[in-house]
Amino acid sequence: MSSPLPLPMPELVANPEIEPHLAGLRAGRLIVPVCQGCAEVVWYPRAFCAHCGRADVQWQDCDGAGQIYSFSVVRQATGEFARSVPYILAYVELDVGARVLTNIIDIDVEDVRIGDRVEPVITADIERPIMRFRRVTPEEKGQPQVPDDRGSSS
Ligand SMILES: [Zn+2]
Repeated sequence: MSSPLPLPMPELVANPEIEPHLAGLRAGRLIVPVCQGCAEVVWYPRAFCAHCGRADVQWQDCDGAGQIYSFSVVRQATGEFARSVPYILAYVELDVGARVLTNIIDIDVEDVRIGDRVEPVITADIERPIMRFRRVTPEEKGQPQVPDDRGSSS
């Protein structure tokens, strides 16, 4: 059986409201909105709080550390994702509380477990920045991973 191709990088839908988040990803950083009313991290990023409704968020750096809350092994897919099966679609619960729909990469799909500790892998592409996650072992906790290949020749 041949190895699946890396997951494609979906086209980004322009949304000026979340520009601080996107600028962070383009720089290899996770920047999240934090509500100035109730102090919750707002996910998916937006300029108002999904918890209390207040339109007052501050964009803050986040290390992205978290754990796998739930996952599914995708074995059939359409479009450009079809070449990448099997792959993991997961909810990662960040330590700061947000639950992120994402992919777990760089792992055999049979080895993934709920509760596994993960860290972000940010592809700091200018046009299509994206954050996915990879599992970390207890010894290698630390900085978010930024791949050497940034997916762009610029
Ligand atoms: Zn709030």
